[in-house]
Amino acid sequence: MRACERVLDLLFPPKCPFCQKILEEPRAPLCPECRPKLPWLEGKAGERRIDFADGCYSPLAYRDGVPQAVHRYKFSRVRALGKPFGALMAQCLGGRLEESADLICWAPLSKKRLRERGFDQAGLMAREVGRLLSVPAGPALEKVRDTAPQSELEEASARRANARGAYALLPGVDLTGKRVVLVDDVVTSGSTLSECAALLRQGGAEEVYCLTLAQARSG
Ligand SMILES: [Zn+2]
Repeated sequence: MRACERVLDLLFPPKCPFCQKILEEPRAPLCPECRPKLPWLEGKAGERRIDFADGCYSPLAYRDGVPQAVHRYKFSRVRALGKPFGALMAQCLGGRLEESADLICWAPLSKKRLRERGFDQAGLMAREVGRLLSVPAGPALEKVRDTAPQSELEEASARRANARGAYALLPGVDLTGKRVVLVDDVVTSGSTLSECAALLRQGGAEEVYCLTLAQARSG
């Protein structure tokens, strides 16, 4: 551990993302009391079929304490949660992918939403996953059209229409022959992920795997 990290831990002791208790083990992604209580997804339960993707994996179900923790991250702007969430996702992906990925990217916020929020929550998680798995992480997509938050749309068809044309491949991105991981916070209908996965394929990606912190039941 670097000295500056130790000082930061003393000044801002890391808290459990789920119950907000101060962690006795500051590098742990969550506290030992929450671990057995969370809705972990094992095997097939942690997989989802997404058009244009070769797989979609999530360590947790979007229920019990998980939605509240995700809201704290996104809407209360607790940027520090990118690290523990990224750690849980890296653990999940490491156990699922047989071969290492070439690039970790994410479903980005629009420039306007990024200005409002100050950070891109999926981007922070993607960078942490990349750091832990020693895979380069970087942007490959941009959000070109502001959309209604997917969480406000009940119907899968409305979510699909809302995501369509909302993203584009960043200019100059060449993914030819690459195995790419696409990160987002929560998968619900999967329309955002399939929209982004299709673009990554257009950019030449040979394999695309989606990775989210949590999986919600489709409405
Ligand atoms: Zn806890």
